[in-house]
Amino acid sequence: MILRKKLIAGNWKMNKTTADAAALIQELAGLIGKQTEVDVVVCPPFTAIESVARALEGSTLKLGAQNMHFESSGAFTGEVSAPMLRAFFATHVILGHSERRTFFGENDELINKKVLTALRNQLRPILCVGETLAEREAGATLKVVQAQTERCLEGVSKELAPSVVIAYEPVWAIGTGKVATTEQAQEVHAFIRGLLTKIFGEPAAQKVRILYGGSMKPANAPDLLAQKDIDGGLIGGASLEARSFVDLVNAASAAK
Ligand code: PEP
Repeated sequence: MILRKKLIAGNWKMNKTTADAAALIQELAGLIGKQTEVDVVVCPPFTAIESVARALEGSTLKLGAQNMHFESSGAFTGEVSAPMLRAFFATHVILGHSERRTFFGENDELINKKVLTALRNQLRPILCVGETLAEREAGATLKVVQAQTERCLEGVSKELAPSVVIAYEPVWAIGTGKVATTEQAQEVHAFIRGLLTKIFGEPAAQKVRILYGGSMKPANAPDLLAQKDIDGGLIGGASLEARSFVDLVNAASAAK
């Protein structure tokens, strides 16, 4: 049986000025910057990437971005590329977040291009998939998650598959305070693992970390993280404050 190291990723979204980000990362680095039990990734806004990257030097915390373009450079006003992120030693990039899908019209085809570009540039994609409330109520959860997962991973080799992180984020649970039950989350995580097994084979699928995202907090994390196929969390709101984020890292450490 493969033991997957738990991963906790903080998505700061469009929060924190450079000064606020510097204060938060210094606090986090002081509290959890030396631990190695859990992989911890922080994803600040682009404006704070440089200052956060500097503050992370010498710590075990890793740097991620919240999005990127699929081209390396060129006339794409307002965009940021994989080589630009790598220049700050970013290791992860969140792709296909539901807010990108909903507010910026990102579809599976575009997200797939970004996933392939990230992997070509040694960035680990944190690929977000998940159903809306209407889709869950219509009984379409697994169908939606299957289509998103398959389309967004098209062309990924089985050798590179273990570098991909999947985040199952039911859209109705993001930022709403409504968390999926442990059974609901585990059901979808196991389903995703099964899909990955069909696509990449058992050994590769067993290595892929599948995170849960959607109102994960220190109070509900232990039960979620104890599930067989829940390998960590993608955290929005609770990543904006050091105490709650550190508590989540500790919960992941206790669940390993
Ligand atoms: C997210 O945006 O990825 C997320 C999980 O947000 P929250 O934790 O605030 O629900």
